[in-house]
Amino acid sequence: MNREPLPKLRLELPAGLERLAGSVKGFMPGNEGEALAYWAAKALDTSSSLGIEIGTYCGKSTIYLAYGASISGATLVTVDHHHGSEENGPGWAYHDPQLVDPVTGKLDTLYRFRRTLDISGLQDHVVAVVAPSARAAAILPKQVSLVFIDGGHGREIAWSDYRNFAPKVAPGGYLLIHDVFEDPAQGGRPPWEIFVEAVGPGGFQEVAQEGSLRVLRSGGR
Ligand code: SAH
Ligand code: MG
Repeated sequence: MNREPLPKLRLELPAGLERLAGSVKGFMPGNEGEALAYWAAKALDTSSSLGIEIGTYCGKSTIYLAYGASISGATLVTVDHHHGSEENGPGWAYHDPQLVDPVTGKLDTLYRFRRTLDISGLQDHVVAVVAPSARAAAILPKQVSLVFIDGGHGREIAWSDYRNFAPKVAPGGYLLIHDVFEDPAQGGRPPWEIFVEAVGPGGFQEVAQEGSLRVLRSGGR
């Protein structure tokens, strides 16, 4: 594709939060996290603004988004069943045995997330929903200013998240998608596929890119 490179817009976090984000387990490089913070601050620009994150894990990306939200006093709802995705299961590349609850034998990131949130001081700007994303979609507001999709990366769940949450982006609001790789050698297809669908005819407009993070704006639909 021949086009102007998209801008790299990032918001640096205060040193303590940057250090915390760096120490939390997860899958969010610092430069992409700072882009999340920038777009959260831009999209969630009043104290009544609401954003939704799908895929909390241990709260790494949540710190960046919640920091952006905190600037105006806005709120981020972060959704996860906290039992991990397929690629976090035993035998998979992203499995972390330290995160398995010894009683249930299940991967459990909830207590790590709470620890992250407690240390961050961002509690007033975060509401955690512990549920499968489709259940959360059914009870969350129909219109929000920002949606960040970073949940399950399997085909079925990625498309389900896209179909359930992209329509919630209000006109002028933002849809952010993580792990979007054009080259199949770099990552799985589903995030790329939903990105392509999102920017298709009559859809969203791509406004920024940082690593595998794509930032799309809803054009007054
Ligand atoms: N944003 C995180 C990484 C998210 S990993 C970071 O910055 O590190 C993907 C997360 O999606 C996992 O925690 C997994 O539990 C969650 N997930 C996968 N499928 C889900 C579903 N159907 N409903 C809710 N959460 C889901
Ligand atoms: Mg991701």
